[in-house]
Amino acid sequence: MTEIRDQLFIANGWTPARNGRTFEVIDPSTEEVLATVARGGQEDVDDAVAAARAAFDGPWRRVTPQERGRLLYRLARELEARIEDFAELETLDTGKPLSHARGEISGCVSYLDYYAGAADKIHGESIPLGPGYLNYTVLEPLGVTAHIVPWNMPLSMVCRSLAPALAAGNTAVVKPAEQTPLTALKFAELFLELGFPAGVYNVVTGFGEEAGKVLSEHPDIGSITFTGSVETGRSILHAAAEHVKPVVLELGGKSPQIIFSDTDLDLAAAEISKGIYSNTGQYCDAGSRLVVEEGVKEPLLEKVLDHSHRITLGKGMDDPDMGPLVSAEHLERVLGYIASGEQEGATMLTGGLSGEFERGYFVSPTVFDGVESKMRIAREEIFGPVLSVLPFSDEDEAARIANDSSYGLAAGIFTRDIDRALRFAAEIQAGYIMINEYFTGGMGSPFGGYKQSGIGREKGLVALENYTQIKNVVARVR
Ligand code: NAP
Ligand code: MG
Repeated sequence: MTEIRDQLFIANGWTPARNGRTFEVIDPSTEEVLATVARGGQEDVDDAVAAARAAFDGPWRRVTPQERGRLLYRLARELEARIEDFAELETLDTGKPLSHARGEISGCVSYLDYYAGAADKIHGESIPLGPGYLNYTVLEPLGVTAHIVPWNMPLSMVCRSLAPALAAGNTAVVKPAEQTPLTALKFAELFLELGFPAGVYNVVTGFGEEAGKVLSEHPDIGSITFTGSVETGRSILHAAAEHVKPVVLELGGKSPQIIFSDTDLDLAAAEISKGIYSNTGQYCDAGSRLVVEEGVKEPLLEKVLDHSHRITLGKGMDDPDMGPLVSAEHLERVLGYIASGEQEGATMLTGGLSGEFERGYFVSPTVFDGVESKMRIAREEIFGPVLSVLPFSDEDEAARIANDSSYGLAAGIFTRDIDRALRFAAEIQAGYIMINEYFTGGMGSPFGGYKQSGIGREKGLVALENYTQIKNVVARVR
């Protein structure tokens, strides 16, 4: 088993929290304590930001863009060589199936590779003002970037924002989710091994109300990238307002998968099942609302139920189709939603708490029929393997249902009629539309939400804008 890191990582050194406090990290598959890690607070965040600032003002600034790219590329190779170690740790920490964790760590490698290649291609332009002037822009880094990440894809969420931030010449302080801090800590080993300057990458583990809040309020950070709930996103915006800092907010979703009657129902059922059950439904872009054309609802539901019944549930390390939810608290939350669905009059066709296991936070694939848009299970993000079925009779009604949400992160459209698919894509108020395949796309596809799903976009070259500021220089040349 790979070595677990349990201390803060600041200025290339491992250190306990200044006040000596710690907290326990639980394996959600077994409810056993995996590690006892440092519970960072104000002083630790101050230390981390100071270290990141010193690196930014000193050695990191002197590294050429090409060399930054090479370093990120070498980071990618090191991580690639240790995918198995990182995947195991991610699985123990989150409960996600091992092969799924491997896929996520490979995704981290891809983020690093993608932005490694971009490091020396971040440049401004010259803007003609006519004879006697030289007018140009330079894209400069912001300084210390803060990254506050959730527990659903721990290292992947770190790499998604860290890779473009470092490529653009910034330094970073990461606050992982309290449930899943282990891979962000372990990742620091690679920075040490590769000889990154001290302070480029810092990790302060701890609680959101403590370390996270202090980090978001810190006057010496240059930006905040936050992925998490809408509620916390609002606090981050308030904190950013105090010091007038740019933010990127990747918040929740209630994404529809819209199925037209002409689609291949076998394909649609497989995609629907993947869209809601992958990662035990703990994806911000999970396809949690099945918006289906009336005429094919029954045959489609039969196929979806068949998938639901065939999904294997188990400990992440046993590599089942679906692992447990991340924590006892989250299990309560998801079960609360399931109860609310029944109370509000929807019909649970399958699912609920799994009785198969003595330990661990297991919920079975759950499908609700008879759902109306006003019910909580149709409106609120459950972040669990719970699918709400909403039928429609024509395209207008489908668009109305799909858009009847305070969220606007993603949507899936399934039809053989490409005209309809593209027409419909234009109607949907969401930042990420997938046609005939769910969770499709790549590193280059900008990701982020409309409405309360967030502000800004990650991934793609456009994400580099989150970590740069434009300086315009105009000279009178006589
Ligand atoms: P969360 O409670 O908002 O927490 C996210 C992060 O913020 C954690 O590191 C948390 O620390 C920290 N935090 C909590 N309160 C804070 C505060 N007052 N100031 C600063 N930081 C604070 O979200 P979660 O429950 O971990 O994650 C699930 C949510 O994330 C879902 O709503 C999901 O949709 C969303 N999400 C969105 C995306 C996306 O790309 N759009 C991706 C993944 C997840 P603690 O861990 O100590 O609470
Ligand atoms: Mg955990």
